[in-house]
Amino acid sequence: MQKLDLENDISLLTGFNTKITFKLKKIGINTILDLLKYFPFRYEDFSKIYNISEIEPNQNVTIQAKIKSLKVHRSWQRKIIIVEAILEDKTGQIKAVWFNQPFLKNILKVGKFFNFSGKVSFDDKNEIYLAHPIYETIDLVNNETKHTARLVPIYSETKGLTSKLIRNIIKTALKTIKPLKEWIPYEILIKYNFPEINQSFKLIHFPNKLSEALRAKKRFAFEDIFLLQIYNLKQKLNLNNQKSFSIKTDLEWLKKILAKLPFELTFSQKKALWEILQDLNKEKPMNRLLQGDVGSGKTIVSALSCLVCAKNGYQSVLMAPTEVLAIQHYNTFKNLFNYISLENQPVLGLLTSSNLLIFYENDVESKVKKDFFKKEVLNNKINIIIGTHALIQKTIEFNNLGFVVVDEQHRFGVNQRAALLNKKNYIPHFLSMSATPIPRTLMLTIFGDLDISLISELPKGRKPIITKIISPENRLKAYNFIKEQIKIGRQAFVICPRIESSNNELNKEDILKLDIKNVEEEYKKLSEKIFPEFKVGMLHGKLKSKEKNEIMQKFKNNEINILVSTSVIEVGVDVPNATIMMIEGAERFGLSQLYQFRGRVGRGEHQSYCFLFTDSNSKTTRLRLEALIKAKNGFELAEIDLKLRGPGEFLGEKQTGFPDLSMKGLMDVELIKNSREAANLLFKKNPQLDFKNNKELLKKLEEFQKRIHLE
Ligand code: ADP
Ligand code: MG
Repeated sequence: MQKLDLENDISLLTGFNTKITFKLKKIGINTILDLLKYFPFRYEDFSKIYNISEIEPNQNVTIQAKIKSLKVHRSWQRKIIIVEAILEDKTGQIKAVWFNQPFLKNILKVGKFFNFSGKVSFDDKNEIYLAHPIYETIDLVNNETKHTARLVPIYSETKGLTSKLIRNIIKTALKTIKPLKEWIPYEILIKYNFPEINQSFKLIHFPNKLSEALRAKKRFAFEDIFLLQIYNLKQKLNLNNQKSFSIKTDLEWLKKILAKLPFELTFSQKKALWEILQDLNKEKPMNRLLQGDVGSGKTIVSALSCLVCAKNGYQSVLMAPTEVLAIQHYNTFKNLFNYISLENQPVLGLLTSSNLLIFYENDVESKVKKDFFKKEVLNNKINIIIGTHALIQKTIEFNNLGFVVVDEQHRFGVNQRAALLNKKNYIPHFLSMSATPIPRTLMLTIFGDLDISLISELPKGRKPIITKIISPENRLKAYNFIKEQIKIGRQAFVICPRIESSNNELNKEDILKLDIKNVEEEYKKLSEKIFPEFKVGMLHGKLKSKEKNEIMQKFKNNEINILVSTSVIEVGVDVPNATIMMIEGAERFGLSQLYQFRGRVGRGEHQSYCFLFTDSNSKTTRLRLEALIKAKNGFELAEIDLKLRGPGEFLGEKQTGFPDLSMKGLMDVELIKNSREAANLLFKKNPQLDFKNNKELLKKLEEFQKRIHLE
């Protein structure tokens, strides 16, 4: 038979008909590699061969026996066909029974020898028998078995694809593939006791001992995380070889600004700012993640950094994921200017799909046309540009861009950066801000290419948000409480579930209809029946951006008391007077999402509240929602959520930027530690990480990069 490569289509495997190939493809197995990566989820131990006289009830046994007799009959309802055989070895006899497999009479011929593996059970006459044991012809030449007399792999089965069939196919594939070239350096294999690649595939499917299967499994889990670590190192290296502007900070000047702020920066804000300013000073591009709990005050840190750049004549951009947020940041900057009244106040620009504003000195704000805005940026007439990600990347050409801040998006690929290149081909310094709480081990792996600044405390005087799970019978009480709060001047958010939970089974359109209806219904109910005396507003993704902005602005000005919204409101919105976050269908949101919602309140001096409405009585729901109450901060919550749900669910693609990465491996602290150690070992030996002598590794790395498609 022709030898196959891993990339080959499974239809090239001989011996299996197209029906089978079709079924395999239906469960996503297209290539030989897919097939070999279809790992068993457990093994049954049929390795011990017993004499019939020795066997006892409830054992998993393999016997080597001759068919003494065989009969086929129907059950008394005449529905089930029963094949019954008497098996015999030198020491005794035992009955074996199969249901609905009439074809067995053509295989299990009287007088022939087979291996039989199965569980020993009792029949209705209290005699032991083997219930549908697996049978296998004894291969006297190779003395090699697949289904009996060994650890037998059990696969996840679908109709027409039994474990037995899958074993046969995989065994054939293992025999048919060309020998694979190892890509993990041998010293690493040895150091961590991983089997070699060809061996690994054999051992994970057909191990002789469980420990062998485990070693293979560990190796496969290691692969992706190891590649990720190398990828991170390479990213760092690439950036280190690039040039950026050295932007200096005038400390006396900065101190004066800090003194004029309406609040004192927290210790960790100061520290983060200091780390950023030091990076700006370097001639290499900064690549930093500013991580801080919701409401910890990341914006002011980035704003001060932008000011430093402007003072040095460099342009900065601040990119936000939504228009609402971009406008909010723009207003924050304007306010900041107000407080600090600089001598040479930078010119500020806002660029979103419906807003093009330039804010000059002396409070002059002009609405401008896009061409003019672009020209002003190109001529270095606008120093700080705030807008949405997409728009800035698509439309703007800079004069001397020195600093890029991305809010609420972790990753920013090299190509995305290249699109922001300035004329001199210098790479701008880059800062990413995120409130997604991630456990430290995870953070160091997923964001291993970034340096990290952590804002670990909230500004002084913030009161913890009182969080309560509200069952249906307490709904009215909660409404009354909200009434009281609004009467004394506070405001409330009401969140209804919505599309973005990508793992929902309904199709997207259904959910869209359903959810918008939810917000609309809720809005109608609250404005007409529950809170007719107050002003209720509504916000969701289907509104035009102009409408959205108007509503947000009204809410900020307290012209709207209650804002009913979808998860649009999730990131970043800052309305310090809002003290109530009420979440409908709380069980339908992820914990980190709920955490983000709650972070919308508790931003001012007033006591704030978060009400989680749920009709669900399920225990996991309770556990998860209670975790939100118990956790002292986002990181603690992250640890809990990680344990409850695993990182795959905790961190969606949106958070990690890694759609396909095997998230399971990220749970395993030892694995992460080993993979980092191993990658560093490589780095030491090969400081350029060019892998000239390991083409296989290079290929793997390229594939990996494509797979996680960061760019
Ligand atoms: P986030 O880190 O979630 O983006 P923001 O930057 O929106 O948080 O800040 C939340 C609120 O806290 C804002 O209203 C901001 O003005 C305020 N704030 C920031 N730093 C401080 C501080 N050191 N003391 C008091 N209030 C602060
Ligand atoms: Mg923010």
